[in-house]
Amino acid sequence: LMQLSIPLNFIGSVYREIRQGLADIEQMFALLDVHPEVKDAPDAKALEVTDGVIRFEDVHFSYDAARPILKGISFEVPAGKTVAIVGPSGAGKSTISRLLYRFYDIDRGRISIDGQDIREVTQASLRGKIGMVPQDTVLFNDTVGYNIRYGRIGASDEEVARAAEMAQIGPFIEKLPEGLNTMVGERGLKLSGGEKQRVAIARTILKAPPILILDEATSALDTATEQEIQASLDYVSKGRTTLVIAHRLSTVINADEIIVLRDGVIKERGRHDALLAQGGLYASMWTRQREATEAEEQLKRMREQD
Ligand code: ADP
Ligand code: MG
Repeated sequence: LMQLSIPLNFIGSVYREIRQGLADIEQMFALLDVHPEVKDAPDAKALEVTDGVIRFEDVHFSYDAARPILKGISFEVPAGKTVAIVGPSGAGKSTISRLLYRFYDIDRGRISIDGQDIREVTQASLRGKIGMVPQDTVLFNDTVGYNIRYGRIGASDEEVARAAEMAQIGPFIEKLPEGLNTMVGERGLKLSGGEKQRVAIARTILKAPPILILDEATSALDTATEQEIQASLDYVSKGRTTLVIAHRLSTVINADEIIVLRDGVIKERGRHDALLAQGGLYASMWTRQREATEAEEQLKRMREQD
């Protein structure tokens, strides 16, 4: 652990300087459960999750004082429900997920879980109750099995295998030379983005947290992989309070509420059908995405004919 603490301090000090590749570093902090930005309050208590209600009240946040990122965000995710956040890149979607995980403290407003301000509870208890499946998962240089078991260290081999199955990565693991004992990461087998994400989902299934944050797969994934991931995300979010950042709008049709974020403000909100009928930003995003998908499919058909 001593060996670890030096590079960690170093990373902490340069962290604010880094603008690119942020996701990887954040994910590493998430894995190690440390972050230089926030500290536990001296009298911090353990978060008690009863229903798992998430509430953002007039949340303001900026990374740099000069540039506000979130400008008064209010929403609630009722117990066991799913709220989706959509919107153009740079809108502040991932920032919302980072604030809920308390990577940063907000400038104004309040974020609470079951009525407890997340600044008043310990980070360990907060993060223990939240399962975070980020867009870019960074795996440990260890076996696939370890990377899944990290969700609940005491899990049995059988439970690990079952979680892998539920995350739709079982068949992939079966084909590996040493199955769950295959080394992955920088010094092992390289997994694709979709495979890594499914390892993260399996880990989350094992952790079985009452609250979930999902940063969905991007369009960089092929449709089949995307559908598999979607199936496993649907499985893991069933009955859990879920905040999902959706890149593909097709995945939010069933969300209990969709929040359309742009430039740090909520532009539109409602269910899929109502938003479509409104003919605003969501409707135009929907049309654009459908056209893009159709163009993509046409291109694929043309290639197949060659
Ligand atoms: P989205 O997920 O909607 O694409 P983000 O929440 O990641 O957007 O980012 C919102 C804005 O905040 C962007 O303009 C982004 O450049 C900026 N931003 C994100 N992370 C940082 C950071 N660590 N420091 C400064 N600016 C940041
Ligand atoms: Mg993002």
